[in-house]
Amino acid sequence: MNEPSSQSVWRFAPSPNGLLHLGHALSALANYDAARAAGGRFLLRIEDIDRTRARAEFEQAIYEDLAWLGLTWEQPVRRQSEHFEDYARALERLDAMGLIYPCFCTRADIARAVADHPDWPRDPDGAPIYPGTCRHLDSPARSQRLTAGLRAVMRLNMEEALARVDHRIGWREYGRGEEPRDVRAEPWAWGDVVVARRDVPTSYHLSVVVDDAIQGVTDIMRGRDLFAATSIHRLLQDLLELPPPRYHHHPLILDSNGGKLSKSKLSKSLRDLRAEGATPADIRRMAHLPPA
Ligand SMILES: [Zn+2]
Repeated sequence: MNEPSSQSVWRFAPSPNGLLHLGHALSALANYDAARAAGGRFLLRIEDIDRTRARAEFEQAIYEDLAWLGLTWEQPVRRQSEHFEDYARALERLDAMGLIYPCFCTRADIARAVADHPDWPRDPDGAPIYPGTCRHLDSPARSQRLTAGLRAVMRLNMEEALARVDHRIGWREYGRGEEPRDVRAEPWAWGDVVVARRDVPTSYHLSVVVDDAIQGVTDIMRGRDLFAATSIHRLLQDLLELPPPRYHHHPLILDSNGGKLSKSKLSKSLRDLRAEGATPADIRRMAHLPPA
């Protein structure tokens, strides 16, 4: 059979800050099924960098719900909170390349800065593109703000970052059961993205690319709601010289249900659906997945 190095590696990566819903079940089952079909490995990664929202009882509920769905995963469970040093190293590397800078703006500051411009561009999530207020602060101005106790996020200087990578940056998109196609990444659509938050010394985007590389993840199957963010991930991978995985973006249950699934079912936790008598086979049907 396959050598471990040629085996594909898939993962499900929930945050333990709430109960799992049908959308989570779709993602977990789709990755698990794909890993099994490919003779690959399936990892569970607990995305617990948000220390104020992560709860042990939600983590426990994740294990129980996934086991109920019939999933097994490799031990040990991977955990983002064990990799803060790796995220710090990645940030240091971007800093050494001159690609990140501290930004002291609050959301309200940004809203004010763009308020007089009704056509101000927005990122794919609908937030105004960062107007660049802090991009060129000199170091005395930075120190002054830090001394005054202001806390900063770290932003990626998008223009400088793009100058460091191949302009044909993109990825191979496998969809789910579709013909693979090449997608051109559009990281510039996001402007100077935040790579480290004020409260946590990393961000979703940074952690996810660092983790996937550390864990040797070869295939990422996730909802189409993250399609646009993949452009940022591809850029960070190239800047940090991390191997790009294969991407498979699947339709969300909302896109594909044809109105058959009620809103209340979608917003219910797996736990509630189970209490109402749903079986794992029912969950697969609701998520438009084939039987186990
Ligand atoms: Zn700023």
